[in-house]
Amino acid sequence: MIFDNFTKITSLLSNLDNNKQLMTDQLISLAEINSGSFNVNGVNKVVDKLSYLFKPLGGEQQVIELDPYKIIDKNGHKISRPIGNALTISKRADAPFQVFLCAHLDTVFPEDSHFQSVKWLDEDTLNGPGVADLKGGIIIMLHALQTLENSPLKDYIGWQVLFNPDEEIGSLSSNKLLKQAAKRANVGMIYEPSFPNGDLAGQRKGSGNFTILCHGKSAHAGRELELGRNAILATNKLALAIDKLNNLDGISANVANINADFPLNIVPDFCYLAFNVRVETTENMSLVTEKLNQIIEATTTEGISFELQGGFTRPPKVLSAGNKKLLDLVKKIGSSLGLNFNITATGGCCDGNNIASYGVPNIDSLGVHGGNIHTDKEYAHISSLVPRAKMSAGLLLAFAYSIKHKHNLDWLHKDT
Ligand SMILES: [Zn+2]
Repeated sequence: MIFDNFTKITSLLSNLDNNKQLMTDQLISLAEINSGSFNVNGVNKVVDKLSYLFKPLGGEQQVIELDPYKIIDKNGHKISRPIGNALTISKRADAPFQVFLCAHLDTVFPEDSHFQSVKWLDEDTLNGPGVADLKGGIIIMLHALQTLENSPLKDYIGWQVLFNPDEEIGSLSSNKLLKQAAKRANVGMIYEPSFPNGDLAGQRKGSGNFTILCHGKSAHAGRELELGRNAILATNKLALAIDKLNNLDGISANVANINADFPLNIVPDFCYLAFNVRVETTENMSLVTEKLNQIIEATTTEGISFELQGGFTRPPKVLSAGNKKLLDLVKKIGSSLGLNFNITATGGCCDGNNIASYGVPNIDSLGVHGGNIHTDKEYAHISSLVPRAKMSAGLLLAFAYSIKHKHNLDWLHKDT
């Protein structure tokens, strides 16, 4: 039996019943600070706000500067763009059981987006930037930790929180913080939104972003066309071959961007191609890399060369035995609180993929019930704030209760 003393913990959750209005107000104030991934000031304003909101929990706070985001632009130039800070909070680092809680600060809505403020669609549905992805989740995490800290069980577990500023652009700069945190964590709790009906994400695909720069040979289109090597045509051939990766089981490829812009009387000697690949297994990550090299080799001709850049940034999240049991536990805690949901596989990915790849069982959709994320129709169901905070707090208390009563938590073993 993993854990079955739900009545022992549910009595500790009733203080959350009165928190709906406070949680709603806190969510609105967070959502109305624009924190697009490249809005450094906006992200840092969210850091300040969270530092203030989480202060009553105690623990040690640290603001961490991160390396800039590096990318190859459509002209093939390497550029780097600054990003905001990360915030970590750590409490009782010497406790025998350590929980890692993670949520991102950034949204996909840039500083100049038209989508900057919240609006009620009906009395339960709040539309606004990041209300579901994932500022609602941050508020749920706050109230869950507060419930733990107010409880007599608090001293049995320790926790560390990471707020990272670059999840929406792949967590490339914050990945080292995820890795560090995973080293000491027994379990991960990540606050991405759940599905609109409350279902949690289980298995997730892995994802990689790739860029290929094609170099050809320039020539005058009228006088010596035959001496030119057309980079656009070669890139299109390559793109069609990459699209065929979709015929492989468990692999999907999306050619999303081709760029070249030349006067009509010149044979183009450069073309940029970018695409995303998703895979269900780690073996498929190496298969894709192998296939890409084969495709490049087969398409390379005299005067045409290709430069492959990028790679997989999020490995697939395959559910380990410990992770499956963890999902069972949260389902039971949910149903003891009247929340019934299923576990659903998804093609989307998040920091839960990274944490799982470091061997830490985790649940990564502990946030609000919400939908239409990454669009200006994004919404959160406000009625899910309190029940979800109870579910997270219930999970924290279940761990603390288990440690106190020396229940075996070995089932939650790390897969390293
Ligand atoms: Zn998110």
